[in-house]
Amino acid sequence: MTSASASSVGIIDSGPAVVSKRLQNSITVGVPSIALIGSVAVGVEFTPLAALLGVVFFLFSGVGAGIGLHRYFTHHAFVCGPTLRAVLAILGGSAWQGPISQWVADHRRHHRFADTPLDPHSPHWRNEEPPKSVVGGLIHAHLGWMVLGDVSDPTRYAADIINDPISNWASRLYWPIAVVTLIFPAGLGAMVGGQTEALSCLVFAGFARVAAVQHFTWAIASAGHRFGEKLPEGKDESRNSKILAVLLLGEGLHSYHHCNPGLGVNQPEALDLSGKILKAFERRQWISDLRQ
Ligand SMILES: [Zn+2]
Ligand SMILES: [Zn+2]
Repeated sequence: MTSASASSVGIIDSGPAVVSKRLQNSITVGVPSIALIGSVAVGVEFTPLAALLGVVFFLFSGVGAGIGLHRYFTHHAFVCGPTLRAVLAILGGSAWQGPISQWVADHRRHHRFADTPLDPHSPHWRNEEPPKSVVGGLIHAHLGWMVLGDVSDPTRYAADIINDPISNWASRLYWPIAVVTLIFPAGLGAMVGGQTEALSCLVFAGFARVAAVQHFTWAIASAGHRFGEKLPEGKDESRNSKILAVLLLGEGLHSYHHCNPGLGVNQPEALDLSGKILKAFERRQWISDLRQ
């Protein structure tokens, strides 16, 4: 595809924007996992407090990715006020998946061109050609596209995010939000148990928690477009995976989601923890117009 035809569909395939995205995503992809592996290798202690905070902050970041970045900012599956919007923006940053404007642009392009050569992260296509192997396609869709891919133009795909003061603010402050929320559990650990707890909480409620949310999310882009149940009405290769649904709060019901992208509650509802959380939010009138 020529640069002219790429830009006609909102794809930037060369220049400073591509270099910047690849650099930013390389740090986003690499830091949590490499820091985790290094910390485990040198024998950082795993404490009960770190385990507890790891679960709590995993839920926060999972909500940030699934309810915040995905169902709210990308698909507008419900309506909420500025306070909750700011909370979801910060929780989205805590998931370490890039600025909101970029996440939304990539995901809307993914839906528009799902499993075609223009999909930014299909395991069935890479650089407009089928990948040479199943594994190669899965690696590309999991994180290869993050560090080697092109740019989905946010001005084309995410103008509403750029024009909203809160989501634009959070997009610009992606790195401060990501870093502060990564090390926040370490501060809690330091208050409770000094240096040992601080280090354990940094590693297991920081690095491990972020790496888990990242890889579970990206697994939906890779494995979630290859393994699992495809609904009869599905028009692409997205799949429902019970395992991925449990791991990421209902987001793994991906074939259902592709068939009904605007809905805030997935089916089967029993596997959609995010949908249950949103229904509870609606009962408390924290959100309205939840699309079901
Ligand atoms: Zn998908
Ligand atoms: Zn979606």
